[in-house]
Amino acid sequence: RKPTQARAAAHAVEIVGVSKRFGDVTALDEVSLQLDSGEFLAVLGPSGCGKTTLLRCMAGFERIDSGRIALDGRAVALPGIHLPPHRRQVAVVPQEGALFPHLSVAENVGFGLSRRDRHRSARIAECLELVGLGGLGARMPHELSGGQQQRVALARALAPRPPLVLLDEPFSALDASLRVDLRRDVRRALHEDGATAILVTHDQAEALSMADRVAVMRDGRVRQVGTPEEVYGTPVDAWVASFVGEADLVDLVDETATEVRTPLGRVEVLPGVPGATRVVVRPEQVQLAPADDPARPAPEGSVRARVTTVDFHGHDALVTLELAGGLTAQARTGAFPPAVGDTVDAWVEGPCRAVPGAET
Ligand code: ATP
Repeated sequence: RKPTQARAAAHAVEIVGVSKRFGDVTALDEVSLQLDSGEFLAVLGPSGCGKTTLLRCMAGFERIDSGRIALDGRAVALPGIHLPPHRRQVAVVPQEGALFPHLSVAENVGFGLSRRDRHRSARIAECLELVGLGGLGARMPHELSGGQQQRVALARALAPRPPLVLLDEPFSALDASLRVDLRRDVRRALHEDGATAILVTHDQAEALSMADRVAVMRDGRVRQVGTPEEVYGTPVDAWVASFVGEADLVDLVDETATEVRTPLGRVEVLPGVPGATRVVVRPEQVQLAPADDPARPAPEGSVRARVTTVDFHGHDALVTLELAGGLTAQARTGAFPPAVGDTVDAWVEGPCRAVPGAET
């Protein structure tokens, strides 16, 4: 006899065909997602696509209309079954923080920790340190800025080392440099605790930099799930291509073409998804050289363009080009971009991917 097969480990999160309507609005339309234990998933999508509703259904703040949600192998939501939030072992960081106004910062952070836990104060201090608020434990919530309150809410959720953490835009009220530091530190803390986490965001840079996998949502539906490299490098359609990162889309008449003529010259096309109608040109593939520079002659097939805007980011810049016929394209340059009004030679380097669908 064969040994009994071990039962396959349950997914930390299993969402199967979940729909949720508010009157005429379908906020979630047959959403399915699975997460392994310890995985970090970002749910990325534009405002109103259903991200917060999905989180609220997982946490138990909303009832689902159809489908099924299981956490750690246990069904918590089915039509007719609805486990209340406190019985789901889920930590939630809501968009607005929502601290207890009558408790100090330290007591807010320690809220989920047992009073008998002799490591309680050390853990509170550690979590305040993690979010960059060490030393502010005695303050009351109304004595903090909006961004500081958001960070206390984050510390409060992480303090009891929950197995599943749901984060709703937790970094939105923070300034740019603090946001980058906190994303990295929170990511590391969750990883060290082996926590499973879902981050809701409309910020593609945040999703791509933090997550193991990204679920891209639109109009209540999951359009694509994959690693950051997959959703950026092999988008399933033109909408995902332009929502996740910048892209110029060029029409593709013949789906089997291996090369296409574009306003930026000839572009090599990778074998695409069946039904492909558009070619995705990423700005980092667009190369620029000063026009008529004898020291750096542009390669054959390059086109003339005029620089109309330069969006400078410090380490790089996004440059908008005006091409023949009034068409535009975008190029990403290094820290020394051309100036507005410059004439440049432009060309596309490397093959581009072909995808189906309209942009919007
Ligand atoms: P944002 O990024 O702006 O927070 P979101 O992607 O989180 O948006 P949801 O808040 O989930 O989107 O909303 C999805 C849709 O459901 C929207 O059309 C919204 O107006 C609608 N909706 C959400 N909650 C309710 C509610 N309680 N009653 C009625 N409609 C709602």
